[in-house]
Amino acid sequence: MFKASIKFAKKLDKQDPLKKFRKKFHFPKHKEKKAIYLCGNSLGLLSKNVKKAIDVEIEDWKKLAINGYLHASNPWLYYQHNFKKSLSLMMGCSEDEVTVMNALTVNLHLLMFSFYRPAGQRYKILMESGAFPSDQYAVETQVRFHGFNPVEAIIEVAPREGEKLLRTEDIVQAIEDNEESIALVLFGGINYYTGQLYDIESITQAAHKIGAYAGFDLAHAAGNVPLLLHQWHVDFAAWCSYKYLNAGPGSVSGVYIHEKFGKDLEFPRLAGWWGNEEKTRFAMEKGFIPQQGADGWNISTAQVFNMVALKASLELFDKAGIEQLRLKSIALTGYLEFLLKLLPDLNCEIITPADPLQRGAQLSLYFRKNAKEIHKKITEQGIVVDYREPGVIRVAPAPMYNSFVDMYNFYEILRNL
Ligand SMILES: *Cc1c(COP(=O)(O)O)cnc(C)c1O
Repeated sequence: MFKASIKFAKKLDKQDPLKKFRKKFHFPKHKEKKAIYLCGNSLGLLSKNVKKAIDVEIEDWKKLAINGYLHASNPWLYYQHNFKKSLSLMMGCSEDEVTVMNALTVNLHLLMFSFYRPAGQRYKILMESGAFPSDQYAVETQVRFHGFNPVEAIIEVAPREGEKLLRTEDIVQAIEDNEESIALVLFGGINYYTGQLYDIESITQAAHKIGAYAGFDLAHAAGNVPLLLHQWHVDFAAWCSYKYLNAGPGSVSGVYIHEKFGKDLEFPRLAGWWGNEEKTRFAMEKGFIPQQGADGWNISTAQVFNMVALKASLELFDKAGIEQLRLKSIALTGYLEFLLKLLPDLNCEIITPADPLQRGAQLSLYFRKNAKEIHKKITEQGIVVDYREPGVIRVAPAPMYNSFVDMYNFYEILRNL
């Protein structure tokens, strides 16, 4: 069992099979020392192999210019192929079912163009209440675009009175209660505020049972928890890669589309030349012929400099393995939870589920009062965590680079407040 001592934390670090990865990252500094960085759920740290990877592309651009499309070390024409293997393992799908393009909210819109096609009575979108604002705005404007009133066309599933988390049974019930009118269930994978990991498989099943599509925003799940998107029959998903995936601010988004749509070349989508089959892409002729798979949703030229950091970062994920990361993550978050429970005077409630199967690497600490003041104080002492209205400090130990000693040091600072 866990112990609250620096010696014990050091012992756990020594036994950690992933300990060598910490050294591969740059940490922000606080008074000449590494800050205690627990903000990987907002912006993952820079890994040291990124600069070299960028230099490779810079050199190729410098030396090859237009010829880099075919002859660069990583030919730019096929740049997105670099991501398929790693992402298919991480997201639990085939290589054909995954691509990278654009940014997350843009992709949510593009995917809704394909998967939200209201017809007759079926025009509603069901989502979680308290979804990330960008998702709310995207859904709001999509239903307006189709001529509906958001108040009527959006169903939000909320926690029960006095509760902060959603119950799967309530989500399923809400889907069944609106079986005739829901066109799309669009849910998060992990809620950004509570840190709750939803039961993606059950939600997908419930949506399919009533004849609706099921799509997921996996911004907080990608690189955090192992997923089985294909096996769970998820229709589509998108995620960003600057949170747990460490690919840098605003970096490219990942997209998953189930193979049955990828193979259906008639399936509606907004097209551009990068989604056209590679064979005829440069024929410059009329008539869009989509590539098979998720690639057929690409629109524009691969944005090499917006993807290169992800390429470098995924090399580390390949080496560590998402299953190993998850094992460490459960232990690390468990240790943090154990330590926080030794501080009753802190007067904070962990609103994230206690069950490791219902959460990822994040604990959301809800302070009834003084949350902002506490946030300010711990920031001054070198802890990097973020504050989210109302009253929550989110603490996210990323198993790729955080240590058990980080957890202990965080605890020590809180204890001495
Ligand atoms: C971080 C996050 C976003 C951000 O979207 P961008 O288009 O990348 O700015 C959207 N949705 C969720 C759920 C997020 O966590």
